[in-house]
Formats: sequence, C-alpha cells, structure tokens
Amino acid sequence: MISVAIDGPSGAGKSTLAKRLAKELGYVYVDTGAMYRSIGLYTLRCGQDPADAAAVEALLPQISLRLALIDGTQHIYLNGEDVSEAIRAENVGMAASAVAVHPAVRSFLLEQQRGLARTQNVLMDGRDIGTVVLPNATVKVFLTASAESRAQRRWNELREKGSSDDYDTVLADIRRRDYQDSHRAAAPLRQAADAVLLDTSELDLEQSFAALRRIVEQGAAGK
Ligand code: C5P
Repeated sequence: MISVAIDGPSGAGKSTLAKRLAKELGYVYVDTGAMYRSIGLYTLRCGQDPADAAAVEALLPQISLRLALIDGTQHIYLNGEDVSEAIRAENVGMAASAVAVHPAVRSFLLEQQRGLARTQNVLMDGRDIGTVVLPNATVKVFLTASAESRAQRRWNELREKGSSDDYDTVLADIRRRDYQDSHRAAAPLRQAADAVLLDTSELDLEQSFAALRRIVEQGAAGK
C-alpha cells in the first residue's frame, strides 16, 4: 500500500491540493481535520466545553464517524448525518483545535485513521500524520505558508462567501490556532524529520499543486 502524509498548519492549502492530487493519482483522500471538526461540532451541540477533557472524553462513546466518497467529493457522517458543510464554520474549527488537545480524542481517532491506510492507497492530511499516525508513510510532505499569506487566502475566501470578517481577525485566529496546534503536549504540529518541506507563501495554486505533485511522484517512485 502507498500512503502519502501531508501535514501543516491550517490554511496552507493542504485540503484543496491533497484532494486534487488524490483524485489524479487514484488514491483515497482522508481529511483527518474533518474528523476532529466533527468531534468539535458534536461537543458544541451537546453544550459542552471543547476544552474540558473529561466532558469531551465522556462524549466519545456516543460518536460514530464515517467517511465516504460521493461523486468524487469526500463527505463525513457524524452518527449518520452528513456534517461536511456544518464542520466548516470558524467556531467549529476552534472547537476542533480545542478537542484535538485531549489524548483520549487523539487515540479515539488514531486507530480509525490507521485502519483506513491498511487496505487502500491513501493521501492523508492533518497535523500529525507523518509523525504519529503513519510514521512509515511512503511519502511525507510538510506543507506550509506564512501566517500572513494564509490569512490573506482565507480572508479572500470568506469575502467571496459574503462574510464581513476583517483581515486582522482572520490573521489573529490563524495565529491562535497555529500556537494551539504546535504547543500542545499530545501530537503537536511539527515537521517529521523525513518530510519534504513545501512552503507555498510565494506560489499560486497551480504552482503549489505542481510542486506537491512532483514531490509525491518522486517519493512514491523511489519505493
Ligand atoms: O485541518 P483542519 O483545519 O480542518 O483541522 C482542524 C483542527 O483539527 C486543527 O486546528 C487541529 O487542531 C486538529 N487536527 C489535529 N490533527 C490532525 C488534523 C487536525 O490535531 N491530524
């Protein structure tokens, strides 16, 4: 089996690029952030505090997640409900980052994620795929960009959707999430020693995609 691990901070373009590359290569795309987001969403819906480890742990037995590919698009089901859209809200992203701190949440998802890579070629994106989930991945990429360029892209997306969030708020959110993701004790965001670094700050989408594709094809060919 071939597994490609793509890690990096939020807003670096991981999911857009990974989704497209998986499709071109015929691999299954696994968006692990969507799994953390679904747990964040469930916690908010239950009126619990995502930062409360014991409260979130108590909810885990009630959660069942399923990923499915429909017409080439990845959907995630939380207890049977398609939450693919609902999990994209900003507050759910923050809740995801808060629940992702808890070791119980990470181990709950770890086995599911490893299971997905056992039987099919996967391209998995997240924060700890190359370091923890798939330490023997065929190819590892650390995809990043400066906080300012990630904020600018995110802000453009939000404006297109009609949101009135200002750039400084978006940048502050990105910085807070970066800090939270890279300073937690359990599986912090960091580049695996054997990952290839791809910084897309100065690249547009097509250039980023071409660079990612080159890295993955070269890595997979050598195995
Ligand atoms: O990638 P995305 O922004 O959807 O991830 C949401 C949050 O889930 C991240 O901020 C991070 O805290 C958490 N996450 C994680 N490990 C992963 C994927 C996501 O901790 N493998």
